[in-house]
Amino acid sequence: MLFARRLLILASAPIIASALPLAEKALIDRIRRQVGKRRAVMVGIGDDCAVLRLPPGHEALITTDFSLEGIHFRRDWHSPEAVGCRCLTRGLSDIAAMGGEPMAAFLSLALPRNLPQKWVDRFLRGLLSLAGKYGITLAGGDTAESPDGILADIVVLGSAPRGKAIRRSGAKPNDRIYVSGELGGSAAVVQRMMKHPRRMLNPRDFPRHFFPEPRLELGRILREKGLATAMIDLSDGLSTDLAHICEESGVGGEVQQEAIPIAAIGKPAQEVDLKFALHGGEDYELLFTASPRKRVPRRIAGVPITMIGHISRRGPVFLVNQHGAGYELAPQGWEHFAGNRAPGVRS
Ligand code: ADP
Ligand code: MG
Repeated sequence: MLFARRLLILASAPIIASALPLAEKALIDRIRRQVGKRRAVMVGIGDDCAVLRLPPGHEALITTDFSLEGIHFRRDWHSPEAVGCRCLTRGLSDIAAMGGEPMAAFLSLALPRNLPQKWVDRFLRGLLSLAGKYGITLAGGDTAESPDGILADIVVLGSAPRGKAIRRSGAKPNDRIYVSGELGGSAAVVQRMMKHPRRMLNPRDFPRHFFPEPRLELGRILREKGLATAMIDLSDGLSTDLAHICEESGVGGEVQQEAIPIAAIGKPAQEVDLKFALHGGEDYELLFTASPRKRVPRRIAGVPITMIGHISRRGPVFLVNQHGAGYELAPQGWEHFAGNRAPGVRS
């Protein structure tokens, strides 16, 4: 069975190569020309494997994330530059969440035959300009034809000093819970687009959704200063991602509702609904815990840091309102939007 499938793939290879917006080889050459050289990459695009050099005393961090048309983005809502930027941010944000230093990215692309080459060029421009900002480059990937829709898989390789990567599993009872930035802005934009599917929003008015920046500097500083006991990036939403920390650490938690920094979006800026701050995904902020004995600055690397609660001995996580009433903060994440999943966007 496996052998037969292989044959089928082999037999169709030349067709695949010629049916892409540009032929496969020409497309790879085009990508290669746009990619700069970086010190960590000994051998990049053009060989069978990339060869990378880890800094002495460091370990490799590796993360992989899909960006799928109709699931994570829509061509009528997201510009190609925004799709490229969001694609790489997903990977860089995972490296940030470990306190790591990014080294290189790998991009596997499956493109429909009728996709204009201009779309691919603009997508790469968005991706590579973010890569350049964080001193990394594309060191390889794969290219094929997709029978339906654009599929992009990003792999990011990073490094951290041996044993120092910040895990989800280190939270201790009585640790304080902190978040960076503001929450809910990205999911609230998705809801706006669902309400008015034909109106294209101006990406510059909603940068945290269209051009999210990974919190790499913040993550690195938290590791260097030994501040965070556990950390995760907010890709699925506060309720889901805090549940991940609690589950991995074997603890529970309490979140003060009025302490949550709720995003304000648009022009004029309007505070988003609490449900987006609690359950909305793709904010790419960092959620971390720290010992009550550590002083955590209110701003790190230019990003506001807010204490929103504390870790308790046992689960679940409770949300406590200003009247002192608490209810369980069940992880809802993007499942909340599951009914809209087909044409919508989720992480
Ligand atoms: P192989 O058959 O060995 O997988 P390919 O022809 O697929 O080689 O790729 C040739 C080179 O181009 C490799 O270095 C690969 O990593 C790189 N490459 C292919 N597709 C992409 C892409 N979409 N982005 C970046 N590099 C790519
Ligand atoms: Mg290949």
